[in-house]
Amino acid sequence: MPSSKTRVAIIGGGVAGLVVARHVVSRPETYSLSMFEQTDQIGGTWVYTDETDKDKNGLPVHSSMYKNLKTNLPKEIMQIPDFPFKDTGGPSFVHHSVIRQYLLDYTKHFNLYPHIKLNTHVEHVEPEQLANGQVVWTVTYTDLPTRAKTTKTFDAVVLCNGHYTVGHVPKIPGIESFKGDCLHSHQYRMPEHYSGKNVCILGASWSGIDICLEVSTQAKKIYLSHNLPEPLDAKMSQNVEQRPGIDHVDGDKFIFRDGSSAQIDVLIYCTGYEFEYPFLSSKIKLQTTDNHVEPIYKNLIHMDWPNLFFMGLPAIVVPFPMFHIQAQYILGIIEGRIKLPSPERMREEYEQEKKSLLEKGIALRHINKYCERQWDYYDEIAHLARVPSFPPVMRKIYDYCNKMREQDFTTYKSYQYRIVDNENFTVTCSKPC
Ligand SMILES: Cc1cc2nc3c(=O)[nH]c(=O)nc-3n(C[C@H](O)[C@H](O)[C@H](O)COP(=O)(O)OP(=O)(O)OC[C@H]3O[C@@H](n4cnc5c(N)ncnc54)[C@H](O)[C@@H]3O)c2cc1C
Repeated sequence: MPSSKTRVAIIGGGVAGLVVARHVVSRPETYSLSMFEQTDQIGGTWVYTDETDKDKNGLPVHSSMYKNLKTNLPKEIMQIPDFPFKDTGGPSFVHHSVIRQYLLDYTKHFNLYPHIKLNTHVEHVEPEQLANGQVVWTVTYTDLPTRAKTTKTFDAVVLCNGHYTVGHVPKIPGIESFKGDCLHSHQYRMPEHYSGKNVCILGASWSGIDICLEVSTQAKKIYLSHNLPEPLDAKMSQNVEQRPGIDHVDGDKFIFRDGSSAQIDVLIYCTGYEFEYPFLSSKIKLQTTDNHVEPIYKNLIHMDWPNLFFMGLPAIVVPFPMFHIQAQYILGIIEGRIKLPSPERMREEYEQEKKSLLEKGIALRHINKYCERQWDYYDEIAHLARVPSFPPVMRKIYDYCNKMREQDFTTYKSYQYRIVDNENFTVTCSKPC
């Protein structure tokens, strides 16, 4: 007899996929679940590897984690609301291995392993309209060790394939004449490679700053080149010099937009990533250029295919807790508890919001960066899903932490945060700050 359960496919076993899975498996009478993960481990970005090119299955290495990375958010506001970190003491900014262990514990605690197919690469996702008008999804996947292909049908698909793998590399006039090392932050692993070198880091967002700090411990000189309207004020290492964007390159001479120049041995692009869904049917119209995915409602639901969900689109957020709310919103939609507006109405709402952001001077490629908008977004999604949003203390810690970072990049990870209650926190400094 065919099962009456709603069949859900989750593509990707990183944090987003695991959090959605945790909520799906909490309703075993309602759902059957298959989660597909192409690598041999869960954790996505948080699985460190020395490799930078191909993994053991011959696929491009997924993770952009580097060897010494410590989180850029304190663990107190990274933790998933229903699964706090066991270690409530210790540092707030933890090594990536701590997060990886946390995700392994989460997966075990919520008994997700029976639903996860590791070493399984999703090749194709195709919509199919049934006679009754319902749209289902055929998912074709390869078991990588045996190369056996299988196609299965699902009632809903949640895309959790991550967005920090395919590096965005801007064109720089003359770059082909540069014979030094050129890499993207996706391929960066450890600072020792840059000992005694002149390194140009292009981009001063989170990765640019973090990698700049690490590499400055080994390099002779760092040129931190960026197009921010003003030079950054925060304290940095002494061998770091800020420069505007690169105008052009002539051999090993880099000429910056203010006319200054420098001799460079290594260029590290910290210029962000591209959104890619290589497995999606061409029937799914999707625009992914300019760091922007359209047409997606509430940054989660395809407006024309409301049983196709996109996790991980908002940036400059608290991703783990956000996934916890988003997952419950998605299930509300699948179960029909949350009614979506018509596609036309969703488009109107979306276009209005986009217009107002563009009018505020936010470039299209930055509108997925939520920053201070994130808190209203969580409240809205949580309200629609009828689940609690985050207590005010989350935002207070986030803001405090940002303030410390803006003052001094070199010490902001030395602070330890402790949540006292929904409103209050304490902060101490573990080293001389
Ligand atoms: C260097 C770096 C540092 C970061 N630091 C922080 C931090 O300190 N704090 C923080 O909160 N966030 C941080 N982030 C953001 C981080 O990306 C998110 O926290 C979160 O890990 C994203 O999870 P995800 O599940 O969306 O994606 P991912 O972790 O990328 O997982 C996606 C998974 O999908 C799988 N997959 C992809 N395609 C397929 C396919 N076709 N078939 C099957 N499986 C597939 C991949 O193998 C992978 O396991 C950092 C990101 C990077 C890159």
